[in-house]
Amino acid sequence: MADAYIALGSNLDNPHEQLDRALESLAQHAAIELIAVSSRYQTPPIGPQQPDFINAAAQLRTTLTPIMLLDALQDIEQQQKRRRSVHWGPRTLDLDILLYDNLVLDSKRLSIPHKLMTERAFVLVPLADIGADLTLPAGETVAQLLANCSQQGIVKLEYGT
Ligand code: AMP
Repeated sequence: MADAYIALGSNLDNPHEQLDRALESLAQHAAIELIAVSSRYQTPPIGPQQPDFINAAAQLRTTLTPIMLLDALQDIEQQQKRRRSVHWGPRTLDLDILLYDNLVLDSKRLSIPHKLMTERAFVLVPLADIGADLTLPAGETVAQLLANCSQQGIVKLEYGT
């Protein structure tokens, strides 16, 4: 069993519903247990002009290997007819693996910890909800990384509470 943390994001086609459906698919997966889900945050887009994103993070416990987990996340993205026409452009659903136990992996398809997570407040803010004390393989905690990041424009939503 491994503990994995993932990021969820959407800014197209009813983002809250996209996140609801993705979380439901994860919870129903035979090899995944959904342990914790963060609050949702509205976050300004990085890159081309596009709608704000809704972001969240989740803790999973799984028997899947990292690549199998990536396959499972990409299946869910495809089920929800992920659309993405522009690099860093709007997307129906984005699911990323942030952490997988204390693993460090850098392969063609998969980098863990996720390459941009240490500098992206839209990833760190939700992750801190469920794992502020988590320590990354390089030794920093999520809370420490977040303290070095601008949280400008990020709004906590009351969704589902
Ligand atoms: P994205 O634009 O965020 O959907 O990422 C596209 C590609 O990033 C995927 O096809 C993955 O092969 C690759 N990738 C590398 N590391 C990760 C990770 N930690 N989680 C998810 N995708 C990853």
